[in-house]
Amino acid sequence: MSHIPFNKPYLTGKEVDYIYEAVKSGKISGDGMFTKKCHEFFEKKYGFKKCLLTSSCTDALEMAAILLNIQEGDEVIIPSYTFVSTATAFVLRGAKIVFCDSRKDHPGMDEDKIEALITDRTKVIVPVHYAGVSCDMDKIMDIATKYNLFVVEDAAQAVESYYTGKDGVKKALGSIGHLAAFSFHETKNIMSGEGGMLVINDTRFMERAEVIREKGTNRSKFFRGEVDKYGWCDIGSSFLPSDMIAAFLYAQMENIDSIQKKRIALWNKYMELLTPVHDKFSLPVIPAYATNNAHMFYIVFHNLEDRTKMITHLKENGVNAVYHYLSLHKSPFYGPKYQGGELPETDRYTDCLLRLPMFYELTDEDVNKVVDTLMSL
Ligand SMILES: *Cc1c(COP(=O)(O)O)cnc(C)c1O
Repeated sequence: MSHIPFNKPYLTGKEVDYIYEAVKSGKISGDGMFTKKCHEFFEKKYGFKKCLLTSSCTDALEMAAILLNIQEGDEVIIPSYTFVSTATAFVLRGAKIVFCDSRKDHPGMDEDKIEALITDRTKVIVPVHYAGVSCDMDKIMDIATKYNLFVVEDAAQAVESYYTGKDGVKKALGSIGHLAAFSFHETKNIMSGEGGMLVINDTRFMERAEVIREKGTNRSKFFRGEVDKYGWCDIGSSFLPSDMIAAFLYAQMENIDSIQKKRIALWNKYMELLTPVHDKFSLPVIPAYATNNAHMFYIVFHNLEDRTKMITHLKENGVNAVYHYLSLHKSPFYGPKYQGGELPETDRYTDCLLRLPMFYELTDEDVNKVVDTLMSL
């Protein structure tokens, strides 16, 4: 019996050629030819003010926390239903994490619950565009303006997805907050195994971001010939990837349109087949202001028991479906420190959400099989 994995990284075919080119060029450390190509591609296509490739989205979030001068006791509002890096990047700087519950209709943070969490120590809001579906950014940016806060978009899953606000302008996710972080981990739509990117939309942070990414030195200025020697100017770390990673990523980016077309077709097929028949679970909701980049297809069961039975049933039939995100406010690390209230929607997604196989090489036949298996329990 054929087995359907949960994820399979897709190769466009050009990755190894471009890595070979990077190696032959003689410069394979960071900020080589392919890194520049990647920066230009993203800045042009999505209207990001400045892009800096990093070794991971986690790195990009850590850079954001340094850039925003997060100090001991500063408060950062993030959803509890997210990947740990959204929190750890700020915890490393001594921040107190204030967790926001998820929406009823979507695992993203409930924008209407943010304002009640703000204190005079609040510094940053980090919306996570879960499954590549935008948070209501007008609401979040208005709150940030009102209380003078920064917004860092965790756009790890949100490449090639958009938000249309009150002004009717369609903006790429990652172009709205002061800063944004993307991931190119192999489970994401376009990837380089491990990889990430910091987007800087607020020009005040541009110069310092380059320094922090280069171990606290002004080496980037030196390479551009803007200073004759470089030295130690600030705190920082080594956040930049080798140009071989950028070469791999560039091969993926060149094919982003065909990758997205295929993923969206598969997502729509799931939706079409499941819409008439879902009574055991609910289907994803895409708000009118958001687009769908088909990062993920998830379903939400009515209780933990139903989900557990289904995972076993799928596994017995050769389908690997997985769940993720255990409420961070109840985690072994942060639970004992957490002082906020109950987050019932977060806990519900923790218990009830299931991700179905979703990757470029999944076939229509595979989707049919997953749906048939789902319906046969
Ligand atoms: C994947 C992911 C990350 C981490 O990305 P890395 O590149 O693996 O560091 C952070 N936040 C969210 C929401 C993610 O999905």
